[in-house]
Amino acid sequence: MTAPTTLPELERTAPAARRPALSYELFPARSDLSFDRLRTTISHLEATGPDYVSVTSRAGHGNLARVLELTEHVLAETALRPLVHLTSIGSTRAQLTAIIHALLDRGVRGLLALRGDQMPGHSLEGDEIPFARPLIELIREVERERTAVLAGGRLSVGVAAYPHRHPESPTTRHDTEVLVAKERAGADFAITQVFFEASSYCALLERARAAGVRMPIVPGFVPATDPRRLVRLAELSGVGAPRRLLHDLETAADDAERRRIGVRFTVDLATRVLDAGAPGLHLFTFNSHAEALDVLDALNLDRWSTTPQGDPR
Ligand code: FAD
Repeated sequence: MTAPTTLPELERTAPAARRPALSYELFPARSDLSFDRLRTTISHLEATGPDYVSVTSRAGHGNLARVLELTEHVLAETALRPLVHLTSIGSTRAQLTAIIHALLDRGVRGLLALRGDQMPGHSLEGDEIPFARPLIELIREVERERTAVLAGGRLSVGVAAYPHRHPESPTTRHDTEVLVAKERAGADFAITQVFFEASSYCALLERARAAGVRMPIVPGFVPATDPRRLVRLAELSGVGAPRRLLHDLETAADDAERRRIGVRFTVDLATRVLDAGAPGLHLFTFNSHAEALDVLDALNLDRWSTTPQGDPR
């Protein structure tokens, strides 16, 4: 579907203006070869007309050059908007300030403010920012200094939200309090950690709204096709995939069947959360477009694309 351009078309398609948001997570390349492959993936994903693509970054910003490489590619070579992940642990306040300025100078207008994954053996240094909330405050401080480049406008600042208790958090109530504090500090929206049951997302939404959180909470999905990736993800996030799903994926006859099972699972889950009122979908792509496109094809979201649609695969 192409975007309406005349007033009668706009009036006719007004309900579509509330189409679900769509975004993809990409991680920076580790080598020039993987950057070439990533460029191909991005061009396939761009054809689906996402609202933005997010660019992950390592805690400590050891891969900053690669983050900037991917961000610059997205800005200069595509029509996509980047949302750059900014992690606070392992970096000083001065370093983070410099990174925010550098991203603004390149034309970035969206940041995902995160504490960052735990760095093994790392202990907090004096000038380090230990949580996402003070990082949001720093971003807003830099924003105030740079209103001229923002034409008086604001940066879009996202944060993480957790359908399941964050592994370091004592209770889900504490997680909710942290989310409230992040919104009060200036967050505009949240993207969730992975989850595998629609009820987990709905319960998060209920807890957040009851505590006064008003910002959109966008569900994050991994196309659940690769059992090894799901196990690795569980180690990192503390959120395990259902045993039944893992069993079905592990015993599938071949990759094609595995892909069918995983895509069907993801589409069912996404359909349920959209039906429950989720404002959009954020797909953790692991830099692979094929499964993400399978999920989108099957979901058949009511969206239009600003780029010519071919069969991108
Ligand atoms: P915070 O909101 O700061 O919370 C961290 C922990 O501290 C929680 O247990 C919280 O309860 C606790 N806490 C917060 N504030 C306080 C306080 N004032 N007092 C006491 N305890 C407090 N990681 C990366 O390294 N790179 C990435 O690119 C990346 N992208 C992500 C994208 C998404 C959508 C999500 C959901 C996660 C991502 N992560 C990434 C992982 C994230 O960094 C980890 O989940 C991290 O452990 C927590 O980050 P946070 O921003 O939620 O931290």
